[in-house]
Amino acid sequence: MVSTLINAFEDLRTAEPNGSLKFRTSAKWPINTDKVRQALKEAGFSSKIVARCDVPNEYSAAIYRWAENLQGLPALVVYPETEDQISITVKFAAENKFTISVRCGGHNGAPMAPETILVDMRHFNSVKVNQETCQLTFGGGCNWGEVYEVANPVGLEAVGGGYWGVGVGGWHTGGGYSWLSGKHGMVTASEAENPDLFWSIRGGHGQLGVITEFTTQAYPNGGQALTGMLGYRPDQLSQVLDMLNERFFPVRTSQESLVLGFVRCPPHYQPVVAIMPWIQGDDAYIAKIKSIFTDTIQPMVDRTFIAHDQVQVSHGADGMFAVPGAKRKVDGLTTIGDLWPEMALEAWQKWEEYTANVPDCRGSVVLFECHSRVKIASKPSDATAWGARDPHYYAVCTGTSMTPVTDQYAEAFALETAELIAAHHLAKTGKPTRQWGLGRMNPDTQEFTYSYATNRDRLKQLKEEYDPLGVFQSPLGQQTHSTLLAKLDKGK
Ligand SMILES: Cc1cc2nc3c(=O)[nH]c(=O)nc-3n(C[C@H](O)[C@H](O)[C@H](O)COP(=O)(O)OP(=O)(O)OC[C@H]3O[C@@H](n4cnc5c(N)ncnc54)[C@H](O)[C@@H]3O)c2cc1C
Repeated sequence: MVSTLINAFEDLRTAEPNGSLKFRTSAKWPINTDKVRQALKEAGFSSKIVARCDVPNEYSAAIYRWAENLQGLPALVVYPETEDQISITVKFAAENKFTISVRCGGHNGAPMAPETILVDMRHFNSVKVNQETCQLTFGGGCNWGEVYEVANPVGLEAVGGGYWGVGVGGWHTGGGYSWLSGKHGMVTASEAENPDLFWSIRGGHGQLGVITEFTTQAYPNGGQALTGMLGYRPDQLSQVLDMLNERFFPVRTSQESLVLGFVRCPPHYQPVVAIMPWIQGDDAYIAKIKSIFTDTIQPMVDRTFIAHDQVQVSHGADGMFAVPGAKRKVDGLTTIGDLWPEMALEAWQKWEEYTANVPDCRGSVVLFECHSRVKIASKPSDATAWGARDPHYYAVCTGTSMTPVTDQYAEAFALETAELIAAHHLAKTGKPTRQWGLGRMNPDTQEFTYSYATNRDRLKQLKEEYDPLGVFQSPLGQQTHSTLLAKLDKGK
């Protein structure tokens, strides 16, 4: 079987059937993707397969992502419905020198060689609740909204994405922060079987295989929470920062969290200092904490509302950053020890000038996500692959653009702003930040070493052990087909 497929692949190295389309296929590996599809079917894959030659209709829909510039051009997009079909796909890829990328919520993007098979996990979307153990089991293709919609009606909530559309797959492997992180910490369950694989999943960027199902601890619904947005004028920023540092953070418990954001909302696109609060408690408690944000500084707009469960909270930011046309995005992310006013003021100045001068990029934002730091720091840094366990907040610098022409500005903005913030962290704490996004995921760079600290070597070792051919692509893996070919050539 193996040799039949490899020989068949020789025959697949011909031009795309539709020669008028321009793909990023390497000259060395032009592929007839219709034949690849046929070969995968012959190998036993029986569910839907969309091939690159199916452009524009089905293929365009199949590669669609949260951000247009994160879309790769995989050879095939497959929609497995069973674990067997995933196994067949992985085996086919390994035997035929294809690489695999996995899609869950589609909010991120892994580097995708033209010889990639994208495994779309959308059919793995069941959500089960075990009320006795308070555990939720959900498929590796769910988004968090789908999980909340099943858990919340039976009175449970989970440490999950703040926004409903984020996929559970990418969130567990490359995110992990929640409005509830301050209360319950990050995801902490453990696994007796394959502990190395389990360790690497949490923050290791899904580079070792396809995760078909997660089981996570849930908690009784903590009750109503204030969420939404308070908007302040630019000239109030210093006051807002003082208020947060002098009055909010000192009394903040695990019941409260917030995101401080710099945004330009349509239709006016004026710069706004936004506070997105999350305050859980009864009416009197919510009013007491909210008054910190409103009694001495009058917000320009108050779009806060009471949400009764995570479904409502996760829809709290719907539309807030919806700048029409800003469909191309790049993130620079960095942990920070504190919300230092001088750091935030400098980031504001950069963001304000940039978004004023490059209208095509005015959807760009800076967000300081300030969840309570105590629980996050309650595990040692080697407990999970993502090693940031020192008390921290994190900054998200998202550059957006409307056309490929201005991508470079968006990228420069995201990178430079994250660097600026990281420099403040270094000056204040004497330690480098942990960064991710924007090329920070190459295991051979110094930034990666800082970000993963002592976990770097273990991750690299596990990659060698569990994916020696580099079949799985991920932001971390960076293994392209050429790396794979080089390895195979070496082995000859
Ligand atoms: C609007 C928005 C809000 C966000 N909010 C939060 C937040 O509150 N907290 C937070 O921590 N992060 C947040 N993030 C970041 C988010 O966690 C990451 O972007 C994450 O990678 C998105 O996951 P996804 O499944 O949607 O993306 P995808 O692009 O589908 O997946 C990203 C990568 O994860 C891996 N992967 C996904 N599914 C699987 C699987 N089943 N098996 C193996 N590997 C898999 C693959 O390597 C894939 O390339 C947010 C991002 C956005 C755009």
